[in-house]
Order: sequence, then C-alpha cells, then structure tokens
Amino acid sequence: MSWPPQYDGSYRPSRDDPYWSREIECGDQTDSILRKLKSQLKYAWEKSPFYRRKWEAAGVSPETLRTLDDLARFPVLQKNELRASQAASPPFGEYLCIEPAQVARIHGTSGTTGRPTVFGVGADDWKRIGEAHARILWACGIRPGDRVMICSFFSLYMGSWGALAGIERLGATAFPFGAGVAGQTLMGVQWARDLKPTAFYSTPSYALHFADTARKEGIDPRSLGIRILFFSGEPGAGIPSTRKQIEETFGGICIDMGSMAEMSPWMTNGECSHRTGMHLWQDIVYTQVCDPKTFQPVPFGAEGTPVYTHLERTSQPMIRLVSGDRAMWTDERCPCGRTYPRLPKGIYGRIDDMFIVRGENIYPSAIEEALRAIPGFGGEFRVIISRLQAMDDLLVRVEYAKQVDPAAFEKIARERLQAKIGVRPRLELVPEGSLPRTEFKARRVIDDRDLYQKGTKP
Ligand SMILES: [Zn+2]
Repeated sequence: MSWPPQYDGSYRPSRDDPYWSREIECGDQTDSILRKLKSQLKYAWEKSPFYRRKWEAAGVSPETLRTLDDLARFPVLQKNELRASQAASPPFGEYLCIEPAQVARIHGTSGTTGRPTVFGVGADDWKRIGEAHARILWACGIRPGDRVMICSFFSLYMGSWGALAGIERLGATAFPFGAGVAGQTLMGVQWARDLKPTAFYSTPSYALHFADTARKEGIDPRSLGIRILFFSGEPGAGIPSTRKQIEETFGGICIDMGSMAEMSPWMTNGECSHRTGMHLWQDIVYTQVCDPKTFQPVPFGAEGTPVYTHLERTSQPMIRLVSGDRAMWTDERCPCGRTYPRLPKGIYGRIDDMFIVRGENIYPSAIEEALRAIPGFGGEFRVIISRLQAMDDLLVRVEYAKQVDPAAFEKIARERLQAKIGVRPRLELVPEGSLPRTEFKARRVIDDRDLYQKGTKP
C-alpha cells in the first residue's frame, strides 16, 4: 500500500450495498492502521520542524513506534500550540508540510477563543476529505439521487465545505443553500417546499429553528420529505431527547457527526443509519479516548477526551490533537457490522464547559436533555450561574409552549432538572419564542461568578 493513499474517484458501490468498502469497515483494521500511522509519522517528521522538535524533546521518533500502543508515548498537541506556531511562522505555522503555493484551499476558525487558526489544505487532501465523507455519508444512507440541502455558513467554516465535498463525491445532488444572512431561513423554507430536499445538514439548533420558521409559514416540516438529517457543530444530535424531537419534527432520521475542523475529514466521528452513537472511522483518523490529564487511552466503557491522529493528511497533519471534548467509548458492536469503536452517547460536553454548582458537576447537555423530554417545553433555554450571598445560584430561564399551564410545567421541570443534575435550580418561565434563536452554535450558559469575584457586580 502506498502512502498517501490515492483513491479511484470513479468508484462507487452499488446503491443497495450498505458499505462503501465492506472489507475495510467490517474487517480487522489493526495492520492497515499501523502501516498508515508509520507513514504519517515519518512524513511529519521529515517535513515539519514543529513535529521534529516536539518529538525530539519527548524522546520519540517514527522509529520508536512499533505498535499502535506506542502512539500513546507521543506528546499530545494542544490547539494553543497551533496558534503559537502560526504566530511565530505565519500564516500556516511550521506544521504545514507542503509548499504554501500548493495550498488549494484556505479555511479557518472564527477565533472566538483567541487568535484564529488558519487551515491550509492541499488539493490531494481535499480529494481525500471528499472520499472519506462520501464513504461516511453512504453509511448513514445517502445515495446518488438524494438532494442534500446544506444550511450552514459558506465562509471560512469547514463544516459546510466538507459536507459539500462528500456529497459531490458520492454523486448526490448538492443544494448548498447556506445560512447566516438576514431573512435567509424563511427563504430556505420556501426553497425546501419547492425543491423537496431528501437530506439536510446544519447544526441541530438551526434545524429546530428552521422547523419553527416552516410552521409559521403554515408548512408542516414533515411535508418537506426529508429522510435524513445529519449534523455537526453542536452535541444536540447525540442527545436522546433532542434527537427524538428532530426525528418527530421532520419525520426523518437524525445522524450525529463531527470531530474538529483541524481534523478534517471531520465526519470520521460519524454515525451510521442505526444511530447507535458515532463510529470512530479509525482507518482515516485514528482516535483514542484519553484521560484528560495523562492523555493515556482509557479502557472501553470509560469516559475521557478524544485525541485524534490523521492517517492520510499531507498538508497540516494533526498528530494526537487534544479535542477537549468529553465522550465515552465502547467496542461493543453496532448492528451495522462495522468494527469501529463508537461513542454511544456522542460528544456530550467539553472538559471545560462542565460547571460546578454547590459541589455538583453539571453539563449543559444534561439540562438540555431533561428539558427537551418534557411535553410543553417551548424549545429554548438559558442557564445563568451567579453567586448570591456567597452561595452559587443556578437560574434556568426556560420557555414553555403556548398551550401549557405554566405552573404545571414549572413543577415538572423543577423535578426533572433536580433529578437529572442533582441541584435544585431556580426557574424563570418565559413564553415560547422569547429567547433568541441561533443560526449557528448555541451558547446557552452564562457564568457570572467570575464577575462577582472581581467585584464588578453588586
Ligand atoms: Zn453502525
């Protein structure tokens, strides 16, 4: 096998085949992963002063990797190292392993958590991203002839473009509608009514906003005929009650996907049509769920943070990139027959978005899960944490639906939340539609305690 792999761009399985490549997806991948990993490490070592310095300092080199287990001896890579390397060696950093002139696409992060990161993707890498995404979209049931509506930003954001590359490679019809322009959602609903997409991609909260907009137009989202909805950018599609809501709203299946933009092909965390949690497509990106302090892999069944390693990336390969996400992994088989491990509960938070209130560890996704399971939930909520007289105060501002009795809803919401998170929250009920909807990733938690501690708040 040569590296980097070259795929036959004209290949496509027969449409009733559940697998893009059965031997790889259902076989023992250990040997092929190890071969690819050795080649990927050797490549990065030869092409990138960044990796060579980092690994020399840690006493490892491609020569010291003999088995897959040896990968855990390699130091992890944190996002701030990427930003620092790009600041010192702009614009792509010393981990760009191709000539800048060979960069075929420039993408980036929004930079909401610091200096934006610049992605330089080579043309061959882009082809492989399309290939990988086609294979994974195939597993969730998309076929040539499907009409796939993409409702996320066409900007520097990788999500939309990566989805587009996969849809095109698979041979389905791409309908790159976009998002983020004033009035666009209403237009999107009208286009969807007329164009009848059979598949839909966005963030989970945007899909629900899209459905609300459709209903206001007198259009039942189920009448649009969408069979498959796939998502990235937020954990929602992996939260059972959110998934149920999306599936009941649209009458199609809800597929959870997504690792990190840096890790494109980002669909290598991706569910199959059985929706048993995201498979880790290990022969494309090798993923280990690790202890968030030692970064050693945790056993199957345990929780940690996914650490990702590219296996076929030549432009900006990521070797042991720490996601900071939180997930549990398992090697229990999925009914689809694929041998990849899975994240059965998806990615349900960030290592650092957990907050502690009165000694309890609380995840925003747990609050969302509890609320979405209550009939009469109005669809949106906010969590506001503050400190009142030296005590943590947890306020959940929550919408109730028009037809429900607010007092009855409040009672059940308080009980369910307390059972789920172990803390009794204060509730503030607001009518459905009061809280702003997002076209992108929802930010639902406001922690005011730092302000209080700095004395800027009464
Ligand atoms: Zn499966």
